[in-house]
Order: sequence, then structure tokens, then C-alpha cells
Amino acid sequence: MGTALVTGASRGIGRAIALRLAGDGYDVIAVARSQDELDSLCAEITKSGRKCRALALDITDAAAVSRALRNESVDVLVNNAGVGIIKPFAEMSLDEWNTMLDVNVNALYHVTHALLPRMLERGSGHVCTIGSISGRSAYVGGAAYSGTKAFVTAWAESLMLEVRGRGVKVSVVAPGGVATEFSGHTVTDADLWKLAAEDVAGAVAQVIATPPDVLIHRMEVRTLTPPPSKSAK
Ligand code: NAP
Repeated sequence: MGTALVTGASRGIGRAIALRLAGDGYDVIAVARSQDELDSLCAEITKSGRKCRALALDITDAAAVSRALRNESVDVLVNNAGVGIIKPFAEMSLDEWNTMLDVNVNALYHVTHALLPRMLERGSGHVCTIGSISGRSAYVGGAAYSGTKAFVTAWAESLMLEVRGRGVKVSVVAPGGVATEFSGHTVTDADLWKLAAEDVAGAVAQVIATPPDVLIHRMEVRTLTPPPSKSAK
């Protein structure tokens, strides 16, 4: 199957994607800042018979990303790492704004730019980025987060049109609410209505398992069980 590099693999959706792709036969390069969590993920994958390499990396550090990835050749890149600072725009500090932009937008440049050239040389590869339904549905407190996820949709569609004729696929998987620790959240029974990280991992696995000449460019993943008191996410 080849090698898949997953960013944000230390927990949540990224960890589930790494485990799912390993289960589907990929060797994994697991990227995030938390070395211990990456090591424990890799131990689990290695036990199941696949290779896994932990790469502790801050993906907002352009020079570090370039150093770490410029000689890597991967079949699948999953741009999953993301942060969500959800608060009204008027209350958002410049640091918070920049953090959102650095992780959710600028790191897409650093990581994808480091790995795309080998995909184009080979004439094959898949770049799958985790967006969000927030990218096209506004909500109070979402000015920065929704903005970054709208960027993901537009960026990925343009990139897809630029590289599909050269054998490289580009996709976006856009989930609704997922029960993870995203944005400092603590998962409780109140999150039972949400998607599980494994549901999103299953969607990514489907998107990258299409026949060579078929592309699923955009997939939105929702739960059938929205909380009765809130608008469905
Ligand atoms: P999460 O549990 O908070 O995981 C975020 C991941 O990103 C962690 O592995 C974190 O690892 C990594 N990360 C953050 N900053 C990083 C940096 N500077 N360098 C490297 N890695 C970094 O969140 P999640 O729910 O799994 O979210 C994953 C993706 O799904 C995000 O793009 C998010 O926007 C999207 N999403 C989430 C939901 C939801 O409801 N949870 C819904 C729709 C879309 P370290 O801290 O170890 O670096």
C-alpha cells in the first residue's frame, strides 16, 4: 500500500487515522509535537505488524518541517493537525489569531510543499486534508476557525485542479462534531451524539481507497444524532 504521513497523529482524529491506515496496510509516519503519545501510537502499530515512525515536529516551524520532510517520499499525506480557538473575533488576541492561521493554514504550505514534489515526480500520491463543516457554516465564535476551514476548501480545490492531470489526488474530508479533546474539550457522556474519531478515519480510508482514475475530492461526514437543543453540527 505504501507509506502514509499523518499530521496531528498524537491524539484524536489523527491518531485514529494513523491506526486505520496501518490496519489497511500502510506504513505510517506519525507527526505531532508530543513525542510520548507518538511513541505509544507507533508501539501499537508496530505490534500489529506494520512500520511506524514517530516524527516529533512543530508543523508551524517552516525550517524544521523542510529539514525533516524534504527527503521523505510518501504515498499519502493526511493534513489533519488543527487547532480551534473558538471565541468572538472582538475578544481574540493577535497571538490567538496567528496561532490559528499558523497551524490551520500556513502549516499546509510547509508540509504539503515539502512532500508534493516527489508525488509529482512519481506521478502518483494523495493529499487528504481534514476540513470541517464549519468551513461553510458560520457560527458565533467561529470567525477565525471557520475562516481557516473555508481556506482549506478553496486551497484544496485549486490544488486538485493544478495536480490531478499529473496523477496526484487532492481531497478534503469535512466532519461535523467529533468527540475529541479538540479546543481543550473534555469528552463526557454529553458528547455521545457526536461522530467518533474512528468514523472520520473510516471516511479518510474510503477517500484514499478509490481506483487510480477516480477521485473523491470532497466528503462531508455528519452524525445522524444531533443534540436536540442545538443546531446540528
Ligand atoms: P485534537 O484532539 O486537539 O488533535 C489535534 C492534533 O493536532 C494533535 O495531535 C496535536 O498534536 C496536533 N497539533 C496541533 N498543533 C500542532 C503543531 N503546531 N505541530 C504539530 N502538530 C500539532 O483535535 P481533533 O479533533 O483530533 O482535530 C483534528 C482535525 O480535525 C483538526 O484539523 C480539526 O480542525 C478537525 N475537526 C475537528 C472536529 C471536532 O469536532 N473535533 C470537527 C471538524 C474538524 P500535539 O499537541 O502533540 O502537537
